[in-house]
Amino acid sequence: MTTQGPADFAGRHLTVAGLGVSGISAARALAGLGAHVTVVDGGDGDKQRAAARELTAEGITVRLGDGDTLPEGTELVVTSPGWKPDSPLFAAAAAAGVDVVGDVEIAWRLRGPGAAAWLGITGTNGKTTTVRMLASILAAEGLRTLAVGNIGTPIIDVVLGQGKDGEPPYDVLAVELSSYQLHWAPSVRAHSAAVLNLAPDHLDWHGSMEAYAADKGRIYEGNTVACVYNAADKATEDLVREADVEEGCRAIGFTLGTPGPSQLGVVDGILVDRAFVENRQKQAQELAEVSDIAPGSGTPAPHNIANALAAAALARAFGVRPAAVRDGLRAFHPDAHRIQIVAERDGVTYIDDSKATNTHAAEASLAAYEHIVWIAGGLAKGATFDELVQKSATRLRGAVLIGADRALIREALARHAPDVPVVDLDRTDTGAMSEAVREAARLAEPGDTVLLAPACASMDMFVNYNKRGEAFAEAVGELTARDH
Ligand code: ADP
Repeated sequence: MTTQGPADFAGRHLTVAGLGVSGISAARALAGLGAHVTVVDGGDGDKQRAAARELTAEGITVRLGDGDTLPEGTELVVTSPGWKPDSPLFAAAAAAGVDVVGDVEIAWRLRGPGAAAWLGITGTNGKTTTVRMLASILAAEGLRTLAVGNIGTPIIDVVLGQGKDGEPPYDVLAVELSSYQLHWAPSVRAHSAAVLNLAPDHLDWHGSMEAYAADKGRIYEGNTVACVYNAADKATEDLVREADVEEGCRAIGFTLGTPGPSQLGVVDGILVDRAFVENRQKQAQELAEVSDIAPGSGTPAPHNIANALAAAALARAFGVRPAAVRDGLRAFHPDAHRIQIVAERDGVTYIDDSKATNTHAAEASLAAYEHIVWIAGGLAKGATFDELVQKSATRLRGAVLIGADRALIREALARHAPDVPVVDLDRTDTGAMSEAVREAARLAEPGDTVLLAPACASMDMFVNYNKRGEAFAEAVGELTARDH
């Protein structure tokens, strides 16, 4: 089924896979365009039934208890992120010659003529932060823009809402694209895009590192102005080389060191651009000082300087002036639970990086501080911890381990950092965080950082990483003079 605009969806028979947040919003949006929508879900619990009742009342068909067979007459399947590519429903669709796409693909197909350009961002870590930095910079330039992704308004609604109620349409969107979304979005063509980094994650979904990287690399397909890569992460540069881009599109690197031609980098605490200048062999344009990045949130961690450079590169590719890069970075506020300073007590800084849910993120976080009491653990999702501990060992004052898979971290510490004192908390109830923070406070010395960067998912002990971060902050608030 070929669809190019909202009108093409009217009267079509569409199947939405999954009655979750994204499936429900896609079903509503598509039904709103006059499509005949059937939502299928393998579950049949109370929650699904309640959601099904609401949708049915709106004229949407819902089939519970069978997520495997393709409803008769389906012309297009719209997936949800949790559904694996090898799901039986997709095999059935393939056998019937029916395309499977995600919400991002639908959003792309719904764009009208003259719609806002997309600046795309993906990577294993740092997507949300960078998308927000970019939106802040674009707004500082006076452009109408929005950070779109796994937060806030679903992307289909953003595109459909364009220019409604007399509002002028967006000039440009800063779009976070996960590897899942890219997998199911074959026709998206961003103006420019960045892959921030690549480390093993979600391999159970993609099947292999190669498949994961290939999905990330799709973000560069058809870029017109710049493919932005991380000069410190060769895999991202390789993806640019393999991409099929428009003629004249440039490869632009970002580096925490001195930039070469066609790169953005850092010189003496200043973010500089040697890519979008007239003579990149001889010229460099000052953009901002490192201290302009989210002032008020402490010294920026190196990975956030990298994120700022990536955001700046995309903004410059879109023609944004240097002063707007600086103003946008100054106006940016990091989201909660991403290197958030919670408190300072007796010279010890308590930092919540609960969003560090994999080893790559935790490694970046640990690299940002000199003396750390590290609170870690949770669900390892198949990860190993040797490399992380090896790289961080000299910075560790101590470690407090929580959660289901803490033994994996304990063993890595024993192998590579045998002198670091370790407290292993043999409890996974939610109150464990209070004890963890008390233990960490005991191990910390003035000038140290107590860092919650678990390198693991949170679901063994908490509803999500937000709740884990909140529990940490509460526990820090409960510390009494005796604890440190
Ligand atoms: P995402 O949206 O990709 O999950 P976030 O911006 O929410 O990324 O950051 C998630 C976590 O990843 C942060 O808490 C931090 O620990 C880590 N992180 C952020 N940026 C980077 C980066 N450029 N490289 C490595 N780790 C990073």
